[in-house]
Amino acid sequence: MTLPLRPELAGVEPYGAPQLDVPVCLNVNENPYAPSAAVADDIAQAVKNAAATLNRYPNRDAMQLRRALADYLAKESSVLIDPGRIWVANGSNEIMLHILQAYGGQGRALMSFAPTYSMYHEYARNTGTRWIAGHRNEDFTLDLEHVQDMLERERPAVLVLASPNNPTGTALTIEEIMRVAELTRTSGPIIDKTETSTLLVIDEAYGEFRREGTPSALSVLDRYPHLVVTRTMSKAFAMAGLRLGYMAAAQTVVDDLMKVRLPYHLSAITQAAALAAIDHSDELMGCIAHLRETRDDLVRWLRAEGFEAVESDANFVLFGRFDEREKVFNALLERGILIRVVGPDGWLRVSVGTDEEDEAFRRALKEVTTHE
Ligand SMILES: *Cc1c(COP(=O)(O)O)cnc(C)c1O
Repeated sequence: MTLPLRPELAGVEPYGAPQLDVPVCLNVNENPYAPSAAVADDIAQAVKNAAATLNRYPNRDAMQLRRALADYLAKESSVLIDPGRIWVANGSNEIMLHILQAYGGQGRALMSFAPTYSMYHEYARNTGTRWIAGHRNEDFTLDLEHVQDMLERERPAVLVLASPNNPTGTALTIEEIMRVAELTRTSGPIIDKTETSTLLVIDEAYGEFRREGTPSALSVLDRYPHLVVTRTMSKAFAMAGLRLGYMAAAQTVVDDLMKVRLPYHLSAITQAAALAAIDHSDELMGCIAHLRETRDDLVRWLRAEGFEAVESDANFVLFGRFDEREKVFNALLERGILIRVVGPDGWLRVSVGTDEEDEAFRRALKEVTTHE
């Protein structure tokens, strides 16, 4: 007997970074500081209240949560966005899925520029969207001429650019974002003999870690009806376990995504917990300044030790280069430190941890590489 699995899924392994029980986990860019007992209590109380109404379906439009996120963005990025232009889902992963369900699919393409987040091509595959990856410059910046050529040649429905980018940590300047937003105004598929825009998605999963003077793409949102900025509570917000992602865009985009979302996609428990967490955003994100500093320290230290390290606007650092990176990865793992084999050959990625975790990583890396 053979089941009618879609041919593109034949032989595919389910994706995921290894989840190993080791003392120092620096592999998936989580915030290393757990919520305090007081925050955990408030979340638990909110969940308890929601539990008393679980016989009912959740609020489908999650307007209260979208209002809270709009208030948060006003504070974080000084940009005022109508809550109706915010969309929420189970992680920014699901936001991307909604985007491709609405704008991708058969005969359409999703484009990005590698090295970048490995999930993008999976979202494309899962939605029957063609995946196109261009390349970046040697220093991982965007080659804007190449971007223009690729857009003209392929006419993608969606272009996604992570900024700060994963796994490189590099952020786009606001000038680069605006340039690409201009290029994508008419580079989408031709529909009924009419030029469309390419939906430009700037994935700001690590937006809160950006360095002083790097504005968010949110600051130019109102100029481009085809611009989408995605965010998540998984990284800076220290809520990876919650699964709450969101985006800001023109009202039309939100209206389009509502056509493809499952009827009650965001559980009442998730909505309640997220609202309670946002009430404590100042405390939850109080460690961001410190993590930014220790990230910069880590880059300096790696360079002083003779490694290459990419300047980062995120909470991780890409470093190398190693003839046999798997060996370095495994030797660190033997010492209880889990990092990530990702990016171009020769490079490894390490998340910024607590001060103690950073110290353990440095000690182990020195040990491992002097014995190489
Ligand atoms: C971690 C990460 C995300 C977050 O995904 P969630 O589903 O919100 O947890 C999104 N984009 C990039 C580039 C990431 O590294």
